[in-house]
Amino acid sequence: MTDLPTISHYINGAAATGTSTRTAPVFNPATGTVAKNVLLASTADLDAAVAVAQAAYPAWRDMSQARRQTIMYNFRELLNARKGDLAEILTAEHGKVTSDALGEIIRGLEVVEFALGMPHLSKGEYSENVSTGVDVYSIRQSLGVVGIISPFNFPAMVPLWYFPIAIAAGNTVVLKPSEKDPSASNWLAELFTEAGLPAGVLNVVHGDKEAVDALLVNPDVQAISFVGSTPIARYIYETAAKHGKRVQSLGGAKNHMLVLPDADLELTADAAVNAGFGSAGERCMAISVIVAVEPVADELIAKIAERVKGLTVGDGTRGCDMGPLITKVHRDKVAGYIDIAKADGADIVIDGRGVKVDGDPNGFWLGPTLFDKVSVDSAVYLDEIFGPVLSIVRVASYQEGLDLINASQYGNGTAIFTNDGGAARRFQNEVQVGMVGINVPIPVPVAYHSFGGWKNSLFGDAKAYGPAGVNFFTREKAVTSRWLDPSHGGINLGFPQN
Ligand code: NAD
Repeated sequence: MTDLPTISHYINGAAATGTSTRTAPVFNPATGTVAKNVLLASTADLDAAVAVAQAAYPAWRDMSQARRQTIMYNFRELLNARKGDLAEILTAEHGKVTSDALGEIIRGLEVVEFALGMPHLSKGEYSENVSTGVDVYSIRQSLGVVGIISPFNFPAMVPLWYFPIAIAAGNTVVLKPSEKDPSASNWLAELFTEAGLPAGVLNVVHGDKEAVDALLVNPDVQAISFVGSTPIARYIYETAAKHGKRVQSLGGAKNHMLVLPDADLELTADAAVNAGFGSAGERCMAISVIVAVEPVADELIAKIAERVKGLTVGDGTRGCDMGPLITKVHRDKVAGYIDIAKADGADIVIDGRGVKVDGDPNGFWLGPTLFDKVSVDSAVYLDEIFGPVLSIVRVASYQEGLDLINASQYGNGTAIFTNDGGAARRFQNEVQVGMVGINVPIPVPVAYHSFGGWKNSLFGDAKAYGPAGVNFFTREKAVTSRWLDPSHGGINLGFPQN
């Protein structure tokens, strides 16, 4: 293992090793082998990176918007031109198939393009003559050093949800990516340097809990942006807030697709397969539960099963539909739900353990898995499984389906499939979920709308990117101004009035 490459941090515009010698293995999930190791930062390493970002902040903050935007634009061009290289890195460390990796990058690129509008997005407001000769105006300013902590499942897109907006707004960044697929963040930071970003504006520190905890308590870090599982999202929200930081903290999900009897079942089955098994179900917006309003279940299941037969599972570089899971531990945990489903009385329509694979037998494989008649008391229904596992729950009515969705602890995404506009409109109004699809199974908003769930899928009130992202990475200052003239004279100790 010692002659494997070691992924270092990226600090002050260059690779950096820091003082910690702790490392974690980075697997190729399609072969099941350790391909690299990644350094895990100590508290001192993290603090050193924050100090670098703090030192870089004044010059970046004070650089003209025009110059900052030129660098952002260069970054956009380079990223677009070289996205194929980044996709290869994603497939090698995450396992997702190349087409899916490219899709993730393109959704991240959208945010870079949105951030190009920062001079317009961060403009203030001006009110003239609020009192005689007095004007009030607001300006939006950057925060300083901001920390970003990202999950394994979107190693490029989630960092890109945050750092382009943070940087375009004049902040400097310390990014702590997932230690499971860390290389994408270094690649993005190097590319930004090539685009002209000054050293120290975007720093990448690899690590685990020690690095995260150091980021949460460092007094020079003004804000924390997190995406990951619900227990960690809650911890991040509480700890960072306790240390006086603003926090956006997005958690896990269990996304339901409600299928009404009038839905087009061919299109619904396509959508269910794409949204349930794409990226091996390792998406926070994956559909994991189909709530079938009877009598559609039997016919829908038959159509889904027929489509699953045509899916190829294997190495993401070989044109397959679905790749491996991220680690062996995670693969075994997900597969364990097949036994739980059986014990809890579900019908196992498709058991993904028997899948034929186009790839190395030691990869972390699990094929598409389909359960019917899942009990809503079963862990299969209640847990975020985060794998290629689709559960069918049968209900008798729209109302029963809606009540089920609204009772979930999660509220990230949901979708309704129907041709009844009135039912869809009612659903959009009544469902307790932050992102809703109407005949759209993965309703991830475009970059100029914000992304975020409700309930245990997002802590606090700050969503990611879009207007909420601009708001998060800037703070407003209100200025009341008058240029003195004789009419402003005189003594009056009363509270200022207009
Ligand atoms: P995770 O919570 O295990 O890890 C996320 C980040 O937190 C990583 O950088 C990790 O190093 C760090 N971390 C892990 N344990 C920690 C601890 N005890 N203390 C401090 N930091 C810790 O999540 P993951 O497995 O990498 O990602 C999958 C999860 O992310 C799923 O639950 C998924 O739903 C969620 N997710 C949510 C969204 C969303 O937008 N809501 C998007 C993508 C992923």
